[in-house]
Amino acid sequence: MEIQVNTREAATALGVSVRTVQRRAQRGQLDAAKVSGRWIITLAAPSLGDFKPAAIDKARALIEDGGILRTSRPGLFTAVSSDGSTTYLVHASSCTCPAGQRGQYACYHRAAVAILTATASAQAA
Ligand SMILES: [Zn+2]
Repeated sequence: MEIQVNTREAATALGVSVRTVQRRAQRGQLDAAKVSGRWIITLAAPSLGDFKPAAIDKARALIEDGGILRTSRPGLFTAVSSDGSTTYLVHASSCTCPAGQRGQYACYHRAAVAILTATASAQAA
């Protein structure tokens, strides 16, 4: 599955500045198109197809709000709970939030990680 993101989302995912994303887009180093004066970056997100569209929307809002951050360990992120009172440890395959612990479905934190890690792998390609 592919996902279209804005420069700010791409910058968060790549761990670079928005300016760097714009420069890479201009140089053709990213799969990007300018739409109404704004860059839209297309990323490959192989595992994102496992999530419902609503979960993907919530995940994007979480990224946009800066509510999910990389840790020093590769592939491991911390996510702030929706009321801001606690944080969860999130990995592509697991999450410490209540929904993640019940294991009934993949929570949106994991969808956010799928977006962020998909972006990183697109960068390496
Ligand atoms: Zn979760």
